[in-house]
Amino acid sequence: MTDRYAVIGNPINHSKSPFIHTHFARQTQQDMRYEALLAPLDGFATAVRGFIEAGGRGMNVTVPFKLEAFELCNERTPRAQAAGAVNTLTFENGYIYGDNTDGAGLIADLVNNQRFELGGRNILLLGAGGAARGVVLPLLHQRPGLLTIANRTAARAAELCNLFQGLGAAVGLGAIRLNACDFSALAGGQFDLVINATSASLSSQALQLPAALYGPDSLAYDMVYGKARTVFMQQALAQGADRVSDGLGMLIEQAAESFQIWRGVRPDTTRILFQMRAAG
Ligand code: NAP
Repeated sequence: MTDRYAVIGNPINHSKSPFIHTHFARQTQQDMRYEALLAPLDGFATAVRGFIEAGGRGMNVTVPFKLEAFELCNERTPRAQAAGAVNTLTFENGYIYGDNTDGAGLIADLVNNQRFELGGRNILLLGAGGAARGVVLPLLHQRPGLLTIANRTAARAAELCNLFQGLGAAVGLGAIRLNACDFSALAGGQFDLVINATSASLSSQALQLPAALYGPDSLAYDMVYGKARTVFMQQALAQGADRVSDGLGMLIEQAAESFQIWRGVRPDTTRILFQMRAAG
């Protein structure tokens, strides 16, 4: 019988996950179907249970349900626990297993697709919401020279910083170089990599960032993706970033990581990334 998977969210029409996973399934010759499932805002758990009863094997979870997904799981991986959110559910023997592949997706895109070496680099992470939290530990595992978390609401950045300072030793990272501030305190700093993990680009809002944040050979990376360059990418180019990228590669790489969890085979992402970029 064909195995069933889905992405669940609200809204969900815009999701590119069915296209990506259908491509992966064809490429790796897996007998599976992947659909998009709209859950009512107050009906996430019921929708998941309905999908399990209908024979579903796994799900990706998107906005706004990643925290609810975390709560629903019987077991969570350490990286899902660190992220405090779940984007990949696996259903097995009546159990719900939760993982978070967003951080691994970002790292794979930066290292493999962008060819950006993270070790020893001065990295700035903008934002302190769910997406930022999900990538802190994977970034720290790459041993940057320094990771700075900056957020409009500085207290939320400080909270994240404290959380991961405490976690560093527990996950074998030892002393970690991590700090937090608001945007204005970034003045005078220069970074090799600036990652926008805020949702400002979704509403085409420019971040109130000091000028001259970008060092030579710097990369400005927006987790948001779309047809045109985001406001953040435009701002970064105007302020001297050497190159810019949106988050399409992260989306595809986090999907590849989920696919591997479910099917035990790693799909090749090169062709679909090229194809989706070309399609705009
Ligand atoms: P979230 O939990 O709602 O957090 C939103 C963050 O954006 C907060 O830090 C918030 O700052 C900040 N923010 C929003 N508007 C702002 C503005 N005008 N100026 C400055 N800061 C602003 O959202 P999230 O789940 O972290 O998601 C963030 C983004 O990542 C979304 O756009 C999402 O699409 C993207 N994402 C992409 C991928 C991918 O695969 N490419 C994966 C995950 C997420 P305050 O704390 O001050 O409110």
